This record gives sequence, C-alpha cells and structure tokens, in this order.
Amino acid sequence: MAPADLYLETIDFRRYLENESCSECGFSSCAKFIEAVRSGDREPLECSFISRNKTYALEAFRQIKDLWPEVPLLTHPRPAFAGLVELNGPAPESLVLVSGNNEYTEQVIMTVMGTTVCPFFVLFTDTDGNTVDMAMVYRTMTAERIHKALNETGLYGKACAREMVIPGIAHRIKDDIEKLTGWRVRVGPVCAAELPLFLSEIWMPPEAD
Ligand code: SF4
Repeated sequence: MAPADLYLETIDFRRYLENESCSECGFSSCAKFIEAVRSGDREPLECSFISRNKTYALEAFRQIKDLWPEVPLLTHPRPAFAGLVELNGPAPESLVLVSGNNEYTEQVIMTVMGTTVCPFFVLFTDTDGNTVDMAMVYRTMTAERIHKALNETGLYGKACAREMVIPGIAHRIKDDIEKLTGWRVRVGPVCAAELPLFLSEIWMPPEAD
C-alpha cells in the first residue's frame, strides 16, 4: 500500500533560526545549513546562534524520522483510543495537545512525544477514527467534539492554563474552539515531527530528567 503523506516537506526550518544568513557555519544561508542538518551532513550545534533547546529539537526531529512508524495511505477510518493521555505527570498549568483518534495518528504522536520529558495533556478527540486531514474533510474534528472531549476527560477542571495546541491542518476551527471553550488556541504545525521545534522552549530532552 502507498505510504501516507506525513507532511515532512512542509516544515520550514528557517523560521526557527534567529539570524538570517550570517555565513558563520560555512554556508551562504541558513536554508543551506538546514538542508545539511536534515541530510545528516552537519550537526545543529554548528550554528553559533541556535539555542540549546532548538539544537535538541533539531536532534529530536532526526530521531523521529528514524523512529517514524510506517503509515499507509488510508481509505477507511481506523478508530483507536479516544480520551486523555497524561504524559510525564502533567501539572494544572501544562499544555493540552489535541489530535484525533486514528490508530496511525496516535502512533505518530506518541513517537514524537517520546522525545521529551516535558509534561503534557494529550487529548485524542473522537474523530470516528479519521486522520486529522480526513476529519477536516468529513467534519469529525469540530469545536463541539473538542468541547465534549474536554468535558468528558475532566480537562476543564484539570488544565487551569486553559490553553491548547491544535494540528495545523485544523486551523479553520481555531476561532470556533476559542468561542465555545473560552480557551486560548494555538495553531500548531501541520507535521507532527515539527512539534519539538514549535514548542522548543519547553521540549526538554529525556536526559534532563
Ligand atoms: S551560522 Fe546559523 S544563523 Fe548563521 S548562516 Fe549558519 S545557520 Fe544561519
């Protein structure tokens, strides 16, 4: 079966570098340096301006690429667990990450989450087993379903920061979720492997535990 598009090519690494094209790494631009990091020819630390957290996030990206599960192109929903995973002992101020309850989506998300010891609430909303992109097409990821999941999992009481990150593909429902829940909604990346970079300020490596 053909593999699913996991959107790795959508990641624009340049947005995570501070300094545009200073050439200190030996490349004429940050973009060229990042291509060398992606292909494994250079190490993130060779950029003198990148923060420790972002260095780790880039390393995590490379780990994820190696650990990424085989995901086939799906023609049917594959329902899996719908509910809350409390990862690394979240506190009331921990962030809520939202995704759908497709079997492969959950494998991908948990592979990514395995690269950090940061505490999170991970909410697998019931999307009838659709991947997030298909859930947007079939309207099975909606503000109403996320609101219902927050209620059923007790997150309205547990997560006092009242802030969630939704997948980039679900950006169209951001305003609806904010209106219905009263929470702050951040639109995350389209590709789950970008999460360590997107959240690099809190994405702590396992050895920091
Ligand atoms: S040293 Fe860093 S900021 Fe400067 S060009 Fe290279 S990657 Fe970009």
